[in-house]
Amino acid sequence: MRSIFFSTPAHGHINPTLPIVRELISQGEEVIYYSTIEFKGKIEATGANFKDYNLDISGLDPEELTDYAILYRTLMEASIALIDQLLPEMKELNPDYIVHDSLSPWGKYIAKILDIPAISSISTFALTRPVIFQAEEFRPSIPKLIFEDARHLLKGMAVQYHLGKHYGTGPLDFFDSFTNREKLNIVYTSLELQPYAELFDDSFTFVGPSISMEQQELDFSIDTERPVIYISLGTLLNENIPFYHTCFTAFRHMDVLVILSIGEKIDIRELGEIPANFIVRNKVPQVEVLKYADLFITHGGMNSVHEGLYFAVPLIVIPLTNEQRLVARQVVDNRVGIELTEVSPELLKETSNTVLESPTYSYHAFKMSNALKDAGGYKRAIQAIQAFKDRFLKEGI
Ligand code: UDP
Repeated sequence: MRSIFFSTPAHGHINPTLPIVRELISQGEEVIYYSTIEFKGKIEATGANFKDYNLDISGLDPEELTDYAILYRTLMEASIALIDQLLPEMKELNPDYIVHDSLSPWGKYIAKILDIPAISSISTFALTRPVIFQAEEFRPSIPKLIFEDARHLLKGMAVQYHLGKHYGTGPLDFFDSFTNREKLNIVYTSLELQPYAELFDDSFTFVGPSISMEQQELDFSIDTERPVIYISLGTLLNENIPFYHTCFTAFRHMDVLVILSIGEKIDIRELGEIPANFIVRNKVPQVEVLKYADLFITHGGMNSVHEGLYFAVPLIVIPLTNEQRLVARQVVDNRVGIELTEVSPELLKETSNTVLESPTYSYHAFKMSNALKDAGGYKRAIQAIQAFKDRFLKEGI
């Protein structure tokens, strides 16, 4: 049995697929995994056969891609380039099925063109048309989408129209470009956290966080005598020296240990003097650190929030994008943390004290941890994939 994975090249999109790939390979499947060269190491570590998209994405600005019209146009333009390049390879590889990221429309097109059964891997909340229309977090984007960003929207639509006509797939729904739903849609959250969970049919399987449980090495020791605060803004929009200085001011005189991951775009020396109670790294094995943390201050990335809650760590969410605002709302509604819409040293200190001292947040985080574990993680995803194979693959397995 041979499967092809088409990733969206970002840690948050790739990480949840890795335990699934490892498991499929251990069952004797051959997995060919497409991404960009930056992710080759972590993909090959699963035993998968890495293939490079050969796509130059160095000019893409992660900040710009938080704008839905620009994201849509970029995805459509990438699709046109990748479909042309990948179709001959796919015909030769002749996979039994395809797993594509929810933000990799080229995977959906290729599956449709070649009539290969496909699965969508959704590392965000599932954002189908009814969810986008119901969620107030997306409303401010709609006038911008129609008026300011019309040229990106129209360009994306022109490409989508061309793709549909050229490859005979017919027009695909604009809103589906952010989900690319398939007969099976694996979502790495639980029904408790997915907004408007009641709007989904049973092609959506909510498996909770898909996390590798292998122990990761830390290059520092963690003293748990005092509360441990872990801070990260994720891997994309993390170039924020003023925020890191705010954290220094907020916590330098508090009796806490702070582990701060600043991302790989900043040289640690640029931060100047580091307070004695801080451990600062460009990148940490986050899942390992979270096992020790009492509070996680996060930008509200889906993976970060789910990893934190999996280990029952209450959160302070400082969202930067509309999607992260939606994540923050779910955090607040489930009483597993607090959202901050602005940041100052005083506010950060005060809010951290509230979360650390009030039993409410740790109690609800503990309950959410159990719900996320019950969702089944990558093992549940594997069961869903097996059911999909039994149902939709010509030869089964
Ligand atoms: N991550 C990590 N070490 C770090 C910072 C982040 O391993 O120092 C991982 C984290 O565990 C998560 C991913 O990077 O799986 C970040 O994904 P998320 O969806 O939270 O945010 P994004 O980076 O996509 O904004």
